[in-house]
Amino acid sequence: MSDLREGGDHHITVVGAGLSGAAVAASLAQRGWQVLVLEAATDLGAGASGLPVGLAAPHVSPDDNILSRITRAGVQATLARAQSLTDSGHLTAADWGWSGVLEHRIKGKRELPSGKALPQEHEQWSTRASTAQVTAAGLPSGTPALWHSQAAWLRPQRLVAAQLATPGITLRLGCAVQRISYSSAGWSLWDAQGQLLTLTPDVVLASAFDTAGLLQGLVDSDPEVGLNFPLHPLRGQISFGKVADLPAATQAQLPPFPVNGHGSFISGVAAPGQAEAHWFIGSTFERDCTQAPVRTEDHAANQTRLNTLLPALAEGMAPGFAPEQIQGWAGVRCTLPDRLPAVGPVDPVRWPGLHLCTGMGARGISLSVLCGEAIASLLTGQPHPLQSELAKHVAAQRFAKGAR
Ligand SMILES: Cc1cc2nc3c(=O)[nH]c(=O)nc-3n(C[C@H](O)[C@H](O)[C@H](O)COP(=O)(O)OP(=O)(O)OC[C@H]3O[C@@H](n4cnc5c(N)ncnc54)[C@H](O)[C@@H]3O)c2cc1C
Repeated sequence: MSDLREGGDHHITVVGAGLSGAAVAASLAQRGWQVLVLEAATDLGAGASGLPVGLAAPHVSPDDNILSRITRAGVQATLARAQSLTDSGHLTAADWGWSGVLEHRIKGKRELPSGKALPQEHEQWSTRASTAQVTAAGLPSGTPALWHSQAAWLRPQRLVAAQLATPGITLRLGCAVQRISYSSAGWSLWDAQGQLLTLTPDVVLASAFDTAGLLQGLVDSDPEVGLNFPLHPLRGQISFGKVADLPAATQAQLPPFPVNGHGSFISGVAAPGQAEAHWFIGSTFERDCTQAPVRTEDHAANQTRLNTLLPALAEGMAPGFAPEQIQGWAGVRCTLPDRLPAVGPVDPVRWPGLHLCTGMGARGISLSVLCGEAIASLLTGQPHPLQSELAKHVAAQRFAKGAR
C-alpha cells in the first residue's frame, strides 16, 4: 500500500467524465471518498456519452447467457441510480423515463429463455408483448415482440452531470492526461507539456478509447509487461427531428414507449439544447472508424432501419428525413471482443492502484453504473454487485499476461 493511502481520507483520481467515469466517481463519493475527475474536454458529453438519448434495456437470449445476465444486473443498477437521483432532485422527468421498451423480434430473433435457463425473476423483466402493446407500437397484431418492463429511455449527459454533483467529487475540465507513471509514491498523471496534473494513490482510467493509449505508455516503459488490450472503435450515428415538424397524422401514430429490435426508436424527448419534443432513430454501426462527423448516408441508413423496425410509421416519417429537417449526432463506442466491459485492476501486483472502467460498447447506459459499483466494492472490500461467476467476465484482469 502506498504512502498516499495512509491516513483517514481516501483519495482517488478518475480520468474521463463520461458515463463510466461519472458512475465510478459517484459510487466512491457516496462511500465517503474524495474523487478528482480529470476530463480532457472543456464541456461534458465530449465522448460517446454525448448521445442525445438512449436506452437502458435488458438483453435476452434463449440460454440466458452471460451478456443477458450481466446486462440485467446493469439495467437494475442504472434504474436504481436514476430513481435515487430523481428522488434527490438531481434528475427530472425530462431526463429519463421508466417507460418500458417493446422489442420487435424481427425474423423471430431474441427468443426468451425457457426451461432451466429461465431466470426466476423472468416475469418481472421480459415477457411476450400483449396485443395491446404490439398495436400501441403501430405494429400489426400478431407481430412477434417482447415487452421489457424494467427498461427506460435516458439522456446520458444528464445522468453524467447528476452523478458528478455528488458531494466529494471535484471535476477539472480541459485537463487531458497524456501519460501515467507509477512509483512507490503512487500514480503520477502528466499532461502533454510534461506538467504533473496530480499524484494519486489510486487511479481509474475511464477514458474510453484513450484508455488503450494510456496503458500502452505503461507497457512501452516496461518491456516485461504482457498486456493485450484490444479496444476497438465502433462509430454510430443517430438521426432525429422535431415531433412538431411531422404531419399531424404521423404525430398521432408515434408509439407511446421506445421500440427496439433493429436499432431503436424513441419519441417525445427533448434534444440537447432544444426544449421541444423530438423523435430519434438509430443507430448505425461502423467498425474501425474513430471519426464522428454526421453523414447524410447514415441518415438514409437510419431511415431504412425505421422501415424495418416500424414499417407502418416509416412512411409518415419520411418528411422528417428531409435535409432541412433532419438532425444528427454521431459518436464512437469503444468495444472489446467479448462485448463486455473491462472493470477493476489490470495487474494489481505490478500496478497496484490502477483500475479500468471502459469498453462499455453499445451498452454504457445499461452497464456503467454497475461497473462503478463494482470498482467501489473492490476498493472498499464490500461484496461485488455481481456473482463471482459473472464478475470474472468483466474483470479487466482477463487481459493481463497469462490470463485466459
Ligand atoms: C450512436 C450511439 C448510440 C448509443 N446508444 C446507446 C443506447 O441506446 N444504450 C446504451 O446503453 N448505450 C448506448 N451507446 C453507448 C454509450 O453511449 C457508451 O457506451 C457510453 O457513453 C460510454 O461511456 P464512457 O464514459 O465509457 O465513454 P465516453 O462517453 O466516450 O467518455 C470518455 C471521456 O473521457 C474523456 N477522455 C478521453 N481521454 C482522456 C484523457 N486522456 N484525459 C482526460 N479525459 C479523457 C473524453 O473526453 C470523454 O469525455 C450508444 C453509443 C453511440 C455512439
